[in-house]
Amino acid sequence: MPEDAVRAATAEPLRIARIGAVCVLTMTGANMNALSRRLRAALYNGLAQAADDPAVRAVLLTSDGPAWCAGADLKEMDSPASEADPSLQGAIFSLIGEMDKPVIAVITGAALGGGFEMALGCHHRIALPDARIGLPEVTLGLLPGAGGTQHLPRAIGLEAATNAILSGKTFRADTFAQTALFDAILPGEDPLAEALAFAEALPQGTRPPLLRDRAVEHPNPEAYLKAVRTAVQGNPRRTSGHLPAVDCLLAAATQPYEQGIAFEYAAFRATRADKASQPYRYGFLAERRAAQAPGMNAAAKPRSIAKVAVIGAGVMGRGIALTCAQSGLPVTLMDLSPDALSQAMSSIAGAVMDGVKRGRTTTQEATTIHSLIATTTDYASLADCDLVIEAVVETMAVKKAVFESLDRVMKPGAILATNTSTLDIDKIATFTGRPEDVLGLHFFNPANVMRLLEIIRGKATDDGVLASALAFGKRLRKVSVVAGVCDGFIGNRMVEQYLRQAQFLVEEGASPAQVDQALERWGMAMGPFRMMDLAGNDVNDAIRERRRAENPGIILADIPDILKDNGWLGQKSGAGWYRYSPGARRPDENTDLTAALARWRAEKGIAPRRIGDEEIVDRCVLALVNEGAAILDEGVALRASDIDVVYLAGYGFPAAKGGPMFVAESLGLRSVMRRMRAFAAVGRGDPAFWTPHPLLARLSTELKSLTDHGVSE
Ligand code: NAD
Repeated sequence: MPEDAVRAATAEPLRIARIGAVCVLTMTGANMNALSRRLRAALYNGLAQAADDPAVRAVLLTSDGPAWCAGADLKEMDSPASEADPSLQGAIFSLIGEMDKPVIAVITGAALGGGFEMALGCHHRIALPDARIGLPEVTLGLLPGAGGTQHLPRAIGLEAATNAILSGKTFRADTFAQTALFDAILPGEDPLAEALAFAEALPQGTRPPLLRDRAVEHPNPEAYLKAVRTAVQGNPRRTSGHLPAVDCLLAAATQPYEQGIAFEYAAFRATRADKASQPYRYGFLAERRAAQAPGMNAAAKPRSIAKVAVIGAGVMGRGIALTCAQSGLPVTLMDLSPDALSQAMSSIAGAVMDGVKRGRTTTQEATTIHSLIATTTDYASLADCDLVIEAVVETMAVKKAVFESLDRVMKPGAILATNTSTLDIDKIATFTGRPEDVLGLHFFNPANVMRLLEIIRGKATDDGVLASALAFGKRLRKVSVVAGVCDGFIGNRMVEQYLRQAQFLVEEGASPAQVDQALERWGMAMGPFRMMDLAGNDVNDAIRERRRAENPGIILADIPDILKDNGWLGQKSGAGWYRYSPGARRPDENTDLTAALARWRAEKGIAPRRIGDEEIVDRCVLALVNEGAAILDEGVALRASDIDVVYLAGYGFPAAKGGPMFVAESLGLRSVMRRMRAFAAVGRGDPAFWTPHPLLARLSTELKSLTDHGVSE
């Protein structure tokens, strides 16, 4: 364990102090004050001590860390420790309920999930105006299980509570300044002094209030929640937590508190035990884990990144420059072509204006973003940037010229990154005299919208450079995943096999729409053919050309050649796997392609067969799994869960399914391999494609978990 982690694990989670007649319980901030059994026990003991001490007249519950309390400890969630005594909703709430001195939650940072529920169980809540509060449990496939569904409607009203709980959103505390949720919003100059003054001003000798004693006011909760339930049922993005949460809100509005809270706890436990809720928690933990690269020298310190340069003002360069500026970083966009720069600036202005129109960006923020972006055609003016991201055309000769120039001008210690999708980063590093400063930062299009960032660690990349890239990704609010060097890295290398299967399915008899619909019904945000049409079919053509050059015997689908010959590039040319009429919301069938396909099948003597949705989904998803296993075995991905994060954050893989490797684990590796072998016997394509990767066989023989592969905690 790195030294910092050891310190965090052994430090006391709660500090107890007395200031006059006020007992101050301070959560010390380790692990965002997640409510581990250890912290719960410390809280119980601290509260019990204060309850028994006649000199204590009030208790403040505060935090030292940036978070007030981030909620349940998800690592404990599926283990007995999560229920072990003292539980929040059991022992701790009963103790607070018995106390005749007020317990005051002083919310100075994020109070989320179980953390917010703890505050709701206190007698009083006071908060800084910008402290974040919320109940995000539904996004984890759960529902609030420590009184959230019972207390919140009593504090802010049934409809506001329903919206907050079912959206899973977080809010600024002052959004609810006028409700019974807060007794005061603090000015925040000296929160502790302000909280002490609040405590001292409370009346003495009266039993402190609890939210449970309030009624849920609503003229017709049954009718309101019936309508909510119908809307939730029709929402394809609902998780396993949504409907039980509605039931709990109904219990809050129609039953006495004691019954409501028991109902909520039973619903919470049932939902947690429901297999359907597991992928959400898995995905959440996988994302957090991905932010740490195992094997990195713990002493490696991130370099400061205060100023960024982006080379190439094309599609990617402008998106990267915008995302940097949106995170408050000054950025200089460089291109040899002044025209490209002026086009980039007007496209950036358009994207920023769009954000203002949609209410995502204030006019003040828009002005700041513009002021942070400069342009240049001269390498020399980039010399003092801490990080430079190259996003010029995808040819090695051009990259070579750019990196040689950067090596000449950039200050020592500057980080030199490339956004290449396919080229060998180790080779790019050799164009400089400082390969240790080179790495890949692979953004996805549009770079200011897509959450995923693949960080590509070259052979020579220094750990400090990697640590800097992870910190930079966090600053941009991206989901970063570290990958090794290979053609396509994690995401695109796997998607190539997925698309290859999708194309074979069409050759065998399915239509592009049938394949897309099967996968979209299964949960993919966008089917493979709509995706190819969006990205441009020329991207796929270039890859096919490369594969044929590398391996003349390779078996690829023929159909993409029909598209190429007809210039059906996708959305940008008005036709591709579909036809696009101007202004139409949905693409139409490309009937010329349908006819060409029929001719092609006739020439090849292929009788089209009816292919069921299950085969479509299985073949496409298991193609991802087999390539994922290879990527894992080669060490290109460090953990199977990192692969899942790439698919969840970057490829519209459904959160309800947890990612391709999670799907494989859920199916069972033996069953996965049996299906793969069966696919080798049907359909077109390369039977060798379906040879299960040896890693799958090895893990299944050794009875090991795939999703834990590479996880060292
Ligand atoms: P693009 O063709 O839209 O833009 C390239 C820009 O680079 C042009 O403005 C061009 O004028 C400029 N340029 C060319 N040579 C230059 C030089 N020597 N110095 C400075 N500027 C130069 O390309 P793009 O789609 O933005 O792709 C850029 C890089 O990002 C490529 O490596 C590509 O593989 C990668 N990438 C692209 C996508 C995508 O979806 N487009 C996604 C991820 C990564």
